[in-house]
Amino acid sequence: MQNPLLDAEENDEAYEQSLRPTRISEFIGQKKVLKNLSVFIKAAQQRHEALDHVILSGPPGLGKTTLAHIIANEMGVQIKPSTGPVLEKPGDLAGMLTNLEEGDVLFIDEIHRLNPVVEEYLYSAMEDYQLDIVIDSGPNARSIQIELNDFTLVGATTRKGLLTAPLRARFGIDMRLDYYDVELLQRIALRTAAILNMGITDRGAHEIARRSRGTPRIVNKLLRRTRDFAQVENMDTITDEIADVALNALDVDQNGFDEMDIRILNAIIENYDGGPVGLGTLSVAVGEDKGTIEEVYEPFLIKEGFLQRTPKGRIATRKAFNYIGVDYRSTDNDLF
Ligand code: ATP
Repeated sequence: MQNPLLDAEENDEAYEQSLRPTRISEFIGQKKVLKNLSVFIKAAQQRHEALDHVILSGPPGLGKTTLAHIIANEMGVQIKPSTGPVLEKPGDLAGMLTNLEEGDVLFIDEIHRLNPVVEEYLYSAMEDYQLDIVIDSGPNARSIQIELNDFTLVGATTRKGLLTAPLRARFGIDMRLDYYDVELLQRIALRTAAILNMGITDRGAHEIARRSRGTPRIVNKLLRRTRDFAQVENMDTITDEIADVALNALDVDQNGFDEMDIRILNAIIENYDGGPVGLGTLSVAVGEDKGTIEEVYEPFLIKEGFLQRTPKGRIATRKAFNYIGVDYRSTDNDLF
């Protein structure tokens, strides 16, 4: 999905790749998720079985793809990556599945966007490691079975609520990644700087961390841009001062909000009296795709207590009114 906060540069993928932790021990944060995962991996290895299927959910940039690779590494198997929208036809899925070796990981990113027909084929593959394919049609229609190697499906989604119940039920391991706190993000900034041979002070790392929307990918992106500012200023170390200059220049405010976050809060407060306002209306008002608002911007605004989702629509909280600098008007009476 198009994600303006994390907008792609040509060499972004290579940059991310170079910074990806490859083992559980290198992965910072998400302690509970990792602890459970270690147990499941160890148990599967002791039984000489493929790991049970895993669904990873949570906002973009928190490490779902990284974890999928770590799972394969720790299990000592290959990972074959794909995405929901790319697997258009059952044949695309069959091609991937029949190429898997014993115990391999099939990683499907954006699994909530799988074509429903393709999804149906996945059921028997996940359950019995078998593909039931119907060939021909009408009275000649018959089903053939293809035996598959045991494999682990790792699905990643920013929208777990959109998964169908039958698909959700077939994942034995369900893990949700949450936003990172500033201390963890600071450690990630220091780790990235060390890998890239950049000088950085603890306070410089802290400044970037606290303005990165709880998201490791944003830490890495802002760190890279801050390095550019430091370089043209002939500084070989990133300090909190230069980080502040860089982040201000990049329109990342003190809360880590960017222009769109502010536009969303402004629209709800100024145009709709604090809400409730429906997602469709909000999307038109701010000129941003509904899915992007829902998956990228809202979760952080909600987590930070600036926005609430109610059955009637989105409402701005007192904190949001204060932030925008408008006197608070309660919308409580409109709620029910
Ligand atoms: P999306 O859903 O948008 O694909 P994602 O959740 O799959 O995002 P990743 O691509 O795995 O996120 O991670 C983004 C970047 O953040 C990677 O470069 C990775 O190095 C870094 N990263 C993520 N989590 C961690 C972590 N816990 N420790 C260190 N670096 C991390």
